[in-house]
Amino acid sequence: MSVIVAKELTTALTALREHGDARLIQGGTDLMVEINFNHVKPTTMISLRDIKSLRMIRTDTPGIMSIGSGVPYSVIEGEPVLTAIPALAQAARTVGSPQIRAAGSLGGNLGTCSPAGDTLPVMFALDASIHLSAIDSSRVVSIHDFMTGVKRSVRQHDEIITAIDFPIINGWQGYSKVGVRNAMVISVASACLVADHENADVRIALGSVGPTIIRCRAAESWLKTTLDLSTRSTISLDVANEFGRRAAEESSPIDDHRSTAQYRRHAISVLASRLLRKAYQ
Ligand SMILES: Cc1cc2nc3c(=O)[nH]c(=O)nc-3n(C[C@H](O)[C@H](O)[C@H](O)COP(=O)(O)OP(=O)(O)OC[C@H]3O[C@@H](n4cnc5c(N)ncnc54)[C@H](O)[C@@H]3O)c2cc1C
Repeated sequence: MSVIVAKELTTALTALREHGDARLIQGGTDLMVEINFNHVKPTTMISLRDIKSLRMIRTDTPGIMSIGSGVPYSVIEGEPVLTAIPALAQAARTVGSPQIRAAGSLGGNLGTCSPAGDTLPVMFALDASIHLSAIDSSRVVSIHDFMTGVKRSVRQHDEIITAIDFPIINGWQGYSKVGVRNAMVISVASACLVADHENADVRIALGSVGPTIIRCRAAESWLKTTLDLSTRSTISLDVANEFGRRAAEESSPIDDHRSTAQYRRHAISVLASRLLRKAYQ
C-alpha cells in the first residue's frame, strides 16, 4: 500500500483523481478499523491530516460558522464552537474517548455517513451545508441532499469534503444520545433539538433510528401550529410528551445487535420530550 501525505488540498485532489481506488484518511478512527478487519484493502491512501486549510474555523460570512472537515472533535467541543453551536460541541463531547476525539473529524463522520454518526443529527437540525471540492470543480450541498442511505452519500470518488457551514441560530439547542453505557458508545438513539427564536420554530433531527438521519417535519409543524413559539417561554409536560410521541412516530428504527426497534422508539419519545422542555424551561 502506498500513502500520499498531502500538504495542500490540490495535491490531495490531484492524487484522488489519478488513483481510482484511493481512500482518503483524516483521523483514521473509522478507516483504520475497516482496514484492520480487512473490510477494505486500499492500494493507495491519501492522508489529509497535514492540510492546514481543512483545519480552520471561519466566521467571515455573517450568521455562519464554517468548520473545516479536518478539525478534530477535541477542538470542536471547546470555544468558539461551544458558544456559537452548542449542540455540535455537545455531540463532539459524546464521541468515543479523548484519544478518538483528538483524531476524529466531521469530514470522517460525513465520509462514513452512518446514521449513528453523532454530529449528523446536529447538521440536519441546523440545515448545515457541505462543501465538496474536486480538482476542477466545487459545489455546496445541503445536508438533506448529502446523505442518501446507510453509509451512502452523493459525494463522488474524486471529491473531498472541505468544510461544513452551520447557521448560527438565536435560541436554545441541544444534543442527547442513548447508548448501552455512558461513554465510548455508539448511540442506539439520538436527537438534536434547535429552538429558532427568530423564525419562531423548533427543529428536531433523529439519529440511529432509520437509514438516514430523520428530520421530524410533522412533529415540528404540529408544535408550530399548536403553540405560539415566539412568545411562549415554558411548555407543559403534556405538550412536550405529545411532541415526543409524534417525533417517535416519524422514526423508522430496526432491531439489531445494539437494541430493539421498540426500545429505540421509546427512547426517542423521551429524548424529544426532554429536549423540548429544556429548551423552554
Ligand atoms: C473506539 C471508537 C469509538 C467511536 N465512537 C464514536 C462515537 O461515539 N460517535 C461517532 O459518531 N463515531 C464514533 N466513532 C467513529 C469515528 O470516530 C467517527 O466517525 C469520526 O468522525 C471519524 O473521523 P476520522 O477523521 O477519524 O475519519 P477517517 O477514519 O479518517 O475516515 C472515515 C471515512 O471518511 C472518509 N473521509 C475522511 N475525511 C474525508 C474528507 N475530508 N472528504 C471525504 N471523505 C473523507 C474516509 O475516506 C473514510 O471513508 C468511534 C470510533 C472508534 C474507533
